[in-house]
Amino acid sequence: MSEFRAWFACIDDECGETYSLDEIIYRCRKCGNLLEVRHDMGQLKEKSADEWRELFDNRYRKQSWPHGSSVWGKKEWVCPYVEDENVVSMYEGATNLFWAERFGSQIGMEDIWLKMCGNSHTGSFKDLGMTVLVSVVKQMTADGKSIPAVACASTGDTSAALAAYCASAGIPAIVFLPKDKVSVAQLVQPISNGALVLSLDTDFDGCMEMVQKVCTRNNIYLANSINSLRIEGQKTISIELCQQFDWEVPDWIVIPGGNLGNISALGKGFLMMRELGLINKLPRLVCAQAEHANPLYQSYLKNFEEFHPVKAKKTLANAIQIGNPVSVNKAIRTLREFDGIVEQASEQELADAAALVDKTGTFNCPHTGVALAAFLKLKERKVFKKSDRVVIVSTAHGLKFVEFKIGYHMGQLEGVFSKYANRPVELPPDYDAITETIFKSIEK
Ligand SMILES: *Cc1c(COP(=O)(O)O)cnc(C)c1O
Ligand SMILES: [Zn+2]
Repeated sequence: MSEFRAWFACIDDECGETYSLDEIIYRCRKCGNLLEVRHDMGQLKEKSADEWRELFDNRYRKQSWPHGSSVWGKKEWVCPYVEDENVVSMYEGATNLFWAERFGSQIGMEDIWLKMCGNSHTGSFKDLGMTVLVSVVKQMTADGKSIPAVACASTGDTSAALAAYCASAGIPAIVFLPKDKVSVAQLVQPISNGALVLSLDTDFDGCMEMVQKVCTRNNIYLANSINSLRIEGQKTISIELCQQFDWEVPDWIVIPGGNLGNISALGKGFLMMRELGLINKLPRLVCAQAEHANPLYQSYLKNFEEFHPVKAKKTLANAIQIGNPVSVNKAIRTLREFDGIVEQASEQELADAAALVDKTGTFNCPHTGVALAAFLKLKERKVFKKSDRVVIVSTAHGLKFVEFKIGYHMGQLEGVFSKYANRPVELPPDYDAITETIFKSIEK
């Protein structure tokens, strides 16, 4: 057992309930609120900020098990409870921080970065949290607890991550997907990894309701981000970002939000670094929502004084097509603490933003498109200074969304005018026709 201590606590400080990490529990039994993992900060403070930075830097991208993974390289801060032999890891994190130099110069800014969280095992940031959750399940099983299966409702990427990590650990996985609302790649990932794939004739919120019922009544372990173990892995995005900037804090971070676990995780990582002295300021956070699924944006307009779930409409950004986000209370708390902004993007705006930035060398998924569009809108409103360092979190790999990408370039996305379309030119295998086309294109 590790010397470091962590436990679940109710996020309502007045309630104050705590639970052990090996309990199968997702909400506070006393008040029903969300739980979060808390760490014994006094114990963590026994190491100085310099010692932590040095430890994390020494482990970063090495092969030594399990610390080469950028999540488990921060194990003491993430989930010290799991023994190394029960860690289920596929080398998470350590993703490229891409300096979007050409894109920045196009819009008159110099310090714009994309954190490429989709360059990972299953192609989205969901791997960061899932490695922690599945490792805890493996640890609990090793300790004699009976967990017959792990299940999740998903807009696509959570199920891909769950299926892969469970397959690697030999744990049965069940995924609840909204029928015809995920991409082909997202559907084929859990199928390939041998999960039981339940395709339900409803939306994500409907799947979420069903999986919660099935899990609580049948002792099946719930892997959605209401399970705060995932947040612990995801919060390493913030730590890794600072690490990649030599422990400097960017001015702004823009991140797309659906169920709102990731924005909460991002905030949690920064607060922990500040408390332990690794950084001394906080960035401002921007949560970007699709206009078709914008309950947090609506709430933001009213200063977060009220929050109402919405019926999410179909959006190209299918992973954030969520009307009733489970982590809303955590997200609002985070946005208040980080002087946050919520912005929204229409289908037209997200599609154009993704395509525009693709032209400078990345390959953006529609959710990253939402974040990029929100960034561009705030830029227009002069929210940023020219010299501000802005990081846009790219949440998934564009290759998971080829229907979206090709649909855009072929002008086939419903209700979207493809301003930056780049269609393939069909030609006979004829020298003159080919050279004529090439020179016309270069002259443009
Ligand atoms: C899950 C997901 C999101 C949204 O994260 P939340 O924690 O649900 O807010 C954004 N983009 C992609 C690609 C995702 O898979
Ligand atoms: Zn409580």
